[in-house]
Amino acid sequence: MKITNVEAIWLQLPTVDERADGTQDTLVVKVYTDEGIVGIGEVDSSPMAAKAIIEAPMSHRIARGLRMCVIGENPLDIMRLWESMYQGSIFFGRGGAAQQAISGIDIALWDIAGKAMGQPVYRLLGGGFRDRLRAYASILFQETPEETYNLARHLVEQGFTAVKFGWGPLGTSEAMDLAQVRMARQGLGANVDLMIDAGICYDTVTALKRAHQFAEYDPFWLEEPLHPDNIEGYARLAAASPIRIAAGEQETTLAGFQALLDAGLAVIQPDVARVGGLSQAIQIGRMAVQRHRLCVNHSYKTGISIAASLHLLAALPNATLLEYCVEQSPLRQMLTRETFPVVDGYVAVPQEPGLGVTLDEDVIARYRVA
Ligand code: MG
Repeated sequence: MKITNVEAIWLQLPTVDERADGTQDTLVVKVYTDEGIVGIGEVDSSPMAAKAIIEAPMSHRIARGLRMCVIGENPLDIMRLWESMYQGSIFFGRGGAAQQAISGIDIALWDIAGKAMGQPVYRLLGGGFRDRLRAYASILFQETPEETYNLARHLVEQGFTAVKFGWGPLGTSEAMDLAQVRMARQGLGANVDLMIDAGICYDTVTALKRAHQFAEYDPFWLEEPLHPDNIEGYARLAAASPIRIAAGEQETTLAGFQALLDAGLAVIQPDVARVGGLSQAIQIGRMAVQRHRLCVNHSYKTGISIAASLHLLAALPNATLLEYCVEQSPLRQMLTRETFPVVDGYVAVPQEPGLGVTLDEDVIARYRVA
């Protein structure tokens, strides 16, 4: 089998607002083969930047577009092709958008392998430890604490047993922070897990103070309170916080996750569409397993990322929670024909060959930019 083409499809809603909602655009990757199998992947990045990295012509030996690194090659040689893309983009890559772009092709290669072998991807990653994951609803803090309370009630009524609120007005004032978290907890009640995503809004001292203040509301974790480069702050925070500290969604490299684990984080959050795809996400997950920390996916895109995350988490011995974005964007809700319904708070791991997703080509046609 040979790769005949790589297509990077930039999708975007007609209006993109300045808020932390990654479901407003995406980059879908299709990898075509001479045997008719088409692999599907997704990149979480600036779609235009990642598309350019995939399609770029050769500047010199270590500055090549990712597409030309894999065309003509056997798609089943996944790690060899991953290395070819990584080495081919050393000059402008080794992290950031290049690593994010590698993710889309890598996920598509795993999809091809699963389809070619008639097996779900998690089995190719070593086999499934579970066939469903407990979904935590992931959504932004609302403008007012009362709106957050109402949304919390609504999500509990939908059967979620865990909910994360993030970003939004958190960090604007101490009073706002405490009111938002208090009302989130009141809306969820005592028996639903609450995660708080600070969205990089604190310095180290404030984050430590908030961790103690939020502890009263029994959050499952406090996520990304600090700038991703503030590793020293994360180490101080992890050592002194009464609640779990989670982070990692901005990281794209093994070294980045190694640093977060060394800093003592309780939870790391690789995004399969950012860290170089499933090939590297599974390595990151196993690093967490080795250290008895939790690995929970970051994912705030489409059904493609949800499916890839489910396969990743199914193949890790100690993963139980799934980030499950509940934004109502048509890209989040309608791009894949599979809807990943939440049943009794759980989402099933796809059992079809490959990722187990099919794309709605009408949705692609409607939102395609380039
Ligand atoms: Mg987050």
